[in-house]
Amino acid sequence: MTTQLTLIKGDITNQSVDAIVNAANSSLMGGGGVDGAIHRKGGAAILDACKEIRRTQWRGGLPTGKAVLTTAGALPAQAVIHTVGPIYKQDRERAPSLLRACVSSSLTLAHTSNLRTIAFPAISTGVYGYPMREAATLMRDESQQYIDTHPEAFDEIRFVLFDDRALQIFQDVWS
Ligand code: ADP
Repeated sequence: MTTQLTLIKGDITNQSVDAIVNAANSSLMGGGGVDGAIHRKGGAAILDACKEIRRTQWRGGLPTGKAVLTTAGALPAQAVIHTVGPIYKQDRERAPSLLRACVSSSLTLAHTSNLRTIAFPAISTGVYGYPMREAATLMRDESQQYIDTHPEAFDEIRFVLFDDRALQIFQDVWS
């Protein structure tokens, strides 16, 4: 088995994969960007599941770099993995390892949940201000490392970029 690594331009909420990753914030109560789109299109079941996680597991909010799994509600995906990316200007020297942790914790959670296709957005590159090229490099390195150590885990790891510029940067970094 080999894992297919795919880069596409698109909307994360339209991906028919086992798991899509949400660029959430630590409240897990929704927000703008990817987070807003996922909650809007997925419906109340996702927010209900997030509230339950806050109540039972992460009362103080989900820490940066960690990941949790919920239903995908009305979305075509089977599940949503919520992870909190670093805030570039605030997390500073910790930002790269935190962004890598987002990727590895999301992949670990998908893998242990037997979800074999996963789609990521460009975590932290919106409101959280991470430079696209640096983020792309870290996400490539971390996903490649996971594939190297767990070659049987995934059929596909997909990065879904929202515009031409983001897609171009990811393609440059991958080539
Ligand atoms: P963060 O708060 O982690 O920076 P954002 O949601 O603000 O997260 O943005 C992360 C990236 O996702 C940005 O590059 C943004 O352009 C992109 N994006 C926004 N909406 C979508 C979507 N529906 N599907 C895929 N990518 C999206």
